[in-house]
Order: sequence, then structure tokens, then C-alpha cells
Amino acid sequence: MVRGLRRLHRFEKRILEVARLQEDLVHIEQYGFSRKADNGFRFPIYALRIGKSSALKKRPVGIVAGVHGLETIGVRILLDFLHHCLANPDFFPELHNGKVGIHAIPMVNPGGIALRRRSNPAGVDLMRNSGVEAVRSMPFFGGHRLSKHLPYYRGNTLEPESRALYRFIFQSFFATKGRLMPVVDVHSGFGSVDHVWWPYASTKEPCRDTPLFESMGRFLKIQAGHSKLNFGPQSESYTTHGDLWDLYYDHYWKYHESDKNWKGRFLPLTLEVGTWSDLRESPTRMLNRKNIFNPDAERKQQTISAISKIPARSVSSIADIGKRLAQPEIAM
Ligand SMILES: [Zn+2]
Repeated sequence: MVRGLRRLHRFEKRILEVARLQEDLVHIEQYGFSRKADNGFRFPIYALRIGKSSALKKRPVGIVAGVHGLETIGVRILLDFLHHCLANPDFFPELHNGKVGIHAIPMVNPGGIALRRRSNPAGVDLMRNSGVEAVRSMPFFGGHRLSKHLPYYRGNTLEPESRALYRFIFQSFFATKGRLMPVVDVHSGFGSVDHVWWPYASTKEPCRDTPLFESMGRFLKIQAGHSKLNFGPQSESYTTHGDLWDLYYDHYWKYHESDKNWKGRFLPLTLEVGTWSDLRESPTRMLNRKNIFNPDAERKQQTISAISKIPARSVSSIADIGKRLAQPEIAM
């Protein structure tokens, strides 16, 4: 666990560094704890609130990462992005002048990062944990309850990490009126293309905001120049049980079901950064379960720099989503 712990502490240190960049603009909170590891450790889950308090309340957007402990490239993208926003006010002026507030959890699954595994310390894959049943999921990969020693295990109840994330989403976004609120969850995965997915993962049925998500995708692809991002509902790529965003999204609408004129829009997006572009050069990467999701060191740095600095396409798309969509008057 030592190497994983060292990495976890490096990230925790970076969270503090981000918080220190603009102390009057960043609040750091300990938001919950991971499931207990075998040695008794419970790892703290941190949240960052970035922006003026009125913007955080009335014009919130969100970004989270580290749901899967092996996909630490997402954590680095998130931290580089926040660092860049805070260190360069021109990059995202809306954050500094009170037009947008960012709610962030850099590491949803700190225990998985410390233990260097995809799942949480109890062996549960958090993106299979919500209890939502898929209409027709891929066998095994789509989530199972066979054994916690196998990947993609769903668990039997909502894990502490899933509950902490839900509480965070509920408190940060559910009560905000009249706003479009994108929340981006950064992952890394198969393939060499960067995907941006919206609900549902459990069914090919369209979600109620499908037309809105489609226009966001068109806008970012054509007008904002993110032509390499692949937009679509998650179920277009694969269908899984237990996606957390399916659960939170449906709860959002259940929560507001009695208000027929409710105008807020909670818009969860999963950004999956393709990390396989270097496969041809280093095919042995396939043989290592950790490296499947992480490019080699040099390529990793290139990927991170490409994504997290101007004119980085993926991250500036997050900024664009925040800028354009925190304004409900935009015609969608
Ligand atoms: Zn993932």
C-alpha cells in the first residue's frame, strides 16, 4: 500500500496547494470518509468550493474525479484544471467575478487510489454501485454480485463514497433554481477517443434532457471547436448496472416532480479520456491491469498537458460548458 499512499498524499498536497492559490476564493471541506480498508484506515474525501459564495449557490457547476482508483489521470486533469483557473484569471474570468462557482471533489475514491485498485476498499466498483438495474447490461463488465474479489462488483448497499458523492450533489445543485448545471465526472478508459457521455447508462431510452445534451454536444463540437470529442448517451457505448449518475439524475427529477414548472437542469456528464493512443508503440501495456488505463509516463504528461492547458480541448470544453451553460438564457 505504501506506493499508493505516497501517491494519495501527493494528490492531497496538491489539493491544499490549489486551495492556497486564492485563499479568499477557495474553501476546502472534509466531506466524508471512504469505506474502511483491511488495516482499519478510512481515507478522507475532500471537497473544494471555488468562487464567490453567491455564485456557488446561484450559478453552480461541478467537477469530480477519482471514482475509479486506477484512473488517476482524471485526478491530475481536475487538479491541473482548477490550478489553471485560479492561477490565470483570464482563462475563466467568470469564476473570479462571481458569475460561476465550481463545486469539486478531486478524489471520490481515495481508498482505491491508496490501494491501487479500481474499486473502493471493500472491492465495490462505485460506478456499478447505485442499485439501478440496467435493462440489458453487458454480462460481468456491466456489473455483477458474484464476488468482491472480481472487478465490476456491484456491492449490496450504497457505499460510503457513493453516499458522500450523493450528499455533495444534493447539497450543491438540487435547490438551485432556473440554471443549467453541468457536472463533469472525469474518467480514463479504453480506446483512443475522448468521450463525453450523458445519462442513461442503464437503458437506451432517452433521458428527459436528451435534446439539451444533444445541443450542448453540437455547440461544443462545432462552435467551440472540440471536434475530437465524441458526445452521446452512455448507453450508446455500453449499458451497465449501478451507474451513480443515473441514480442522482433520476433523484433530481423525483425531488422536483411536484413542481411542474421547475426550471433548473442538473446535467451530469462523464468525460472519459481515451488513453490508448500509444498502444501501437507499447503493446505490452495491455498486460498490466493498471497500465491499461494509464499511458506511459511520457505520454501521460503529454496527455495531461494537452488536456489541462490552453488551448486544451477537453478541459476548455469543461470551461466552455461552465461558461455557456451557467447562463440559462442561452438558446438550446
Ligand atoms: Zn472510470
